[in-house]
Amino acid sequence: MSDATVMDGKARSRSIIDQVTEATRTLKSETGIQPGLAVVIVGSDPASQVYVGSKAKRAEECGFKSVKHELPEDTSEADLLKIVDDLNRDDSIHGILVQLPLPKQIDEGKVIQAIDADKDVDGFHLINVGRLATGASEDAFVPCTPAGCMVMIRDVLGDDLSGLNAVIVGRSNIVGKPMAQLLLAANATVTIAHSRTKNIAAVCANADILVAAVGRPEMITAEYVKDGAVVVDVGINRIDAPEKGTNADGSVKSRLVGDVAYEDAAEKARAITPVPGGVGPMTIGMLMANTLRSAYRAAGRDAPK
Ligand code: NDP
Repeated sequence: MSDATVMDGKARSRSIIDQVTEATRTLKSETGIQPGLAVVIVGSDPASQVYVGSKAKRAEECGFKSVKHELPEDTSEADLLKIVDDLNRDDSIHGILVQLPLPKQIDEGKVIQAIDADKDVDGFHLINVGRLATGASEDAFVPCTPAGCMVMIRDVLGDDLSGLNAVIVGRSNIVGKPMAQLLLAANATVTIAHSRTKNIAAVCANADILVAAVGRPEMITAEYVKDGAVVVDVGINRIDAPEKGTNADGSVKSRLVGDVAYEDAAEKARAITPVPGGVGPMTIGMLMANTLRSAYRAAGRDAPK
């Protein structure tokens, strides 16, 4: 048995959702404003359907107005842009989320940049990316997954990460890069590793904080982990699990694993996130927190911390 603290994202997200629900009640009773979240999905990708469904459900739980636009796979870019434009103008909507990926006939970048930056609760608009990169993160909507990772890291290590080495494996725009900005803003010394990095295990083994956002099942084994490191696993990978038997159609059952070989890494880590039940639920919690913040801003107030 390892001594590592398990960072329970499900419980932590629950506490965020409870706070958001309470603050929603206050905002509504004092100003009459109800936070509104619109989620837009194009096509019928099963994973995207599940994500969008749970986002809409959580929004309702928080007491938000929750709007879902489900559009067919062959929706044109112009039609999607029109919906985004309508939502931008709708005062009852404070957060707009367009579920990615979009079908190939639609330019994702164009759609994201069409969202009003003040309603961009995913934090992907260039204005929000720029705010975060220039250290104006108080004004920015920060992408939900790295924001959730940061909450868990702060729970263990506190707000000031001065003197600590952080290594992020993965340099995507939605996870790796904003994660690096957040850790840098908290005074960590930050390295981003990726597919072209040499001696990656040795680079990671220098990390007091190790964030894996790669998309490779259980790549991060014990040799990547420094004794006493805080390990955050963003990866969600579905792998065959023959030990669970077969489905009714004869196919092998599957299970979810992260980018970290959990048991292995937990032997050395001080704290570690599980998969499932770690970063995943935090992402949704932070989406609710961002939407609440947007509604408070619309009311001319600061959202409670
Ligand atoms: P991307 O595919 O956009 O990026 C993956 C990154 O990993 C790239 O920068 C890539 O490097 C790097 N990489 C790939 N292979 C290796 C390797 N062998 N060694 C080192 N680096 C490598 O993925 P995302 O950032 O979107 O997602 C990462 C993971 O996180 C996925 O499993 C995804 O499902 C999960 N995820 C989970 C979320 C949650 O809520 N928990 C939310 C978002 C994502 P290069 O740039 O050089 O190609």
